[in-house]
Amino acid sequence: MMRKKIRAVLFGPQGCGKGTQGQLLADRFDIPLVGAGDLFRAEISARSQLGKLAKSYVERGALAPDELVNAVIASQLKKVDLARGFILDGYPRNVEQATYLDRIMKVNLAVYIKITDKEAVRRLQGRRQCKRCKFTYHLTDAPPAKSNQCSICGGPLIKRADDTEDIIRQRLAAFHFMTEPLVSYYRQQGVLLPINGEQSIPYVFEDMIKKMAKLGFQS
Ligand code: ADP
Ligand code: ZN
Repeated sequence: MMRKKIRAVLFGPQGCGKGTQGQLLADRFDIPLVGAGDLFRAEISARSQLGKLAKSYVERGALAPDELVNAVIASQLKKVDLARGFILDGYPRNVEQATYLDRIMKVNLAVYIKITDKEAVRRLQGRRQCKRCKFTYHLTDAPPAKSNQCSICGGPLIKRADDTEDIIRQRLAAFHFMTEPLVSYYRQQGVLLPINGEQSIPYVFEDMIKKMAKLGFQS
């Protein structure tokens, strides 16, 4: 049977579980998960032309301009296995970027994972990430088998420098202002799939898989 190709974006407030659900989706459908943040870091360590430019923004803690972000994403989407589709996490962050993406690669599914700001703060304060393989845990909700040690690769778990309450609140404000307008943008495109993110990790996943199947995306 021909499978409908997935060209998906995942979005929602910081801490909604995009990274977590993105990993699960990529495994289930066997398609690449493209994380915007990781891409930026990869370009920087590869010392590419784009990477050098990106570095100057990241080092100042500034948001890179749309043109630069778009160029990094376009270059990566050419490299990944487009024949099988992709899942984007962390991009687009605003309507300008979404419009650009639709011009180079038309999105056919926009999963919007919804949680309250209060829950976002709670989750990000407990988030820990493996330094080596980047797998994400939560101190109480998704703990590793041994404390402070990755269950997959044994690497050390670290807390991201920007996962502190003040900075989380700033990032949430930016989400509401810049990124939330994507809800109506993608609704107008007819590809919006809203998901209640305030359920356990496996429930969010099953909910999403069932709704995707109804839209013709069979796993
Ligand atoms: P995002 O990529 O959207 O910022 P993450 O996937 O990193 O979010 O998840 C944020 C934190 O919340 C992590 O510590 C993760 O383990 C935890 N988490 C993710 N989904 C859930 C959930 N459904 N219930 C409880 N905790 C969750
Ligand atoms: Zn690991």
